[in-house]
Amino acid sequence: MDLDGLRQALGDKAIRGELLSRHTTFGIGGPADLFVVARTLDELRACMRLAWEHQVPYFILGGGANVLVADRGVRGLVIQNACCAVECLAEDDEMWLVKAESGAEMKAVARQAISQGLAGLEWAVDVPGTVGGAVVGNAGAYGGYVSDSLRGAVVFSPADGESWSSTSELGLGYRTSIFKVPPDESGKAAGFSPVILSATFGLRREEASRLQERAAEYRLRRAESQPQGLSAGSVFKRTEQYPAGFLIENAGLKGKRIGGAVVSPKHANFIINLGTATARNVRELIELIQETVQREFKTALELEIELVGDW
Ligand SMILES: Cc1cc2nc3c(=O)[nH]c(=O)nc-3n(C[C@H](O)[C@H](O)[C@H](O)COP(=O)(O)OP(=O)(O)OC[C@H]3O[C@@H](n4cnc5c(N)ncnc54)[C@H](O)[C@@H]3O)c2cc1C
Repeated sequence: MDLDGLRQALGDKAIRGELLSRHTTFGIGGPADLFVVARTLDELRACMRLAWEHQVPYFILGGGANVLVADRGVRGLVIQNACCAVECLAEDDEMWLVKAESGAEMKAVARQAISQGLAGLEWAVDVPGTVGGAVVGNAGAYGGYVSDSLRGAVVFSPADGESWSSTSELGLGYRTSIFKVPPDESGKAAGFSPVILSATFGLRREEASRLQERAAEYRLRRAESQPQGLSAGSVFKRTEQYPAGFLIENAGLKGKRIGGAVVSPKHANFIINLGTATARNVRELIELIQETVQREFKTALELEIELVGDW
C-alpha cells in the first residue's frame, strides 16, 4: 500500500487524516488515511484507478447516512462521492427515464421528479444520502423501494472497467444488494470493489400536484414518528414478525444510554448521538440491544446500518 505515492498522484485535493465524523449523519467516525472528494465521474474513476495502481484500498462514502464508522477511522483512501448531475429523458408519452449520477442526493432527485410530474420516487422525498447509497441498500419507505423503479446502474471497477447492470443483476432485496457485504464483527473495510457511477429510474407521468400531496403526507408521517438529532436512521432491519423498534421498546430499552449514545425515546430503532458519542458507545449499545431482544423475545436483530473501518 503506497499511501505516499497515491497522495502525490492525487495532488492537493487529497487530505491526510480527515475526520469522518464531519461526513456522517451520526457525526461519528475517526480519520481516513487519505480523503478526497470526487465531483465528476472522471474524477471518481481517476481516483479509483490511482488507488488501484498504488494498491491503496478505497471506500466510497455517499451521504454517510447508513454507516457507523469506527473511532480508529478507515485505512486506505476514502472517496466522498459528490457527482450529482441528473438528466431526464422521455422514453415515450407515458414513461420518462431519470438518469442520476450516484453522488446526487436521493431526495433532490425525488423532488426534481415530483416537480416535473414524474411518479415513483415520492417515498424518497426526505430520505438522506445519495443515489449510490440508496441503490446499495435498496432504500425505501412507506411501501416504496428503489427496486420498484430502478432500471439499472452503470458500475465501474479499476480491474473490470465500466458496464451496465440491469436491476435484476443488482440483487436488490430488503435493504440489500450485491454491493452490500454481509455484516460481520470486523465491519466493512476499504477494498477494490465495484462502484455505482449512475443509476437510471423509469418514472411514469402523473399530475405534479398529486405527487406533491403524496410527498407531503410522507413528510408529515416522518416528522411525527422519527426523532431529530444525529443518527443513521433505523439501526436494525425489521424481523419477519415485528418492526425492530417494537421489540426494542418492549424490551424496555427506550432511553437507554451508553456514554453519549442513547436509544431514542421517540423511536426505539434510532440511536442518537447526543454530541459526545463514540463509535464504541454506539457499538456497545447495539450489542446490548441485540442481547436483550434475543433474551426477551428469542429474536435476532440484524443490523441495517453498516459497520465501517478499523474496529
Ligand atoms: C434520519 C434518517 C432517516 C432515514 N430514513 C430512511 C428511510 O426511510 N429509508 C431508508 O431506506 N433508509 C433511511 N435512512 C438510511 C439512509 O438514508 C439510506 O441508507 C441511504 O440510502 C444511505 O445513502 P448514503 O449515500 O448516505 O450511503 P452511505 O452511508 O454513504 O454508504 C452506505 C454504503 O453504500 C456504499 N456506497 C455508497 N455509495 C456507493 C456507490 N456509488 N457505489 C458503491 N457503493 C456505494 C458505501 O460504501 C457504504 O458501504 C435514514 C437515515 C437517516 C439518518
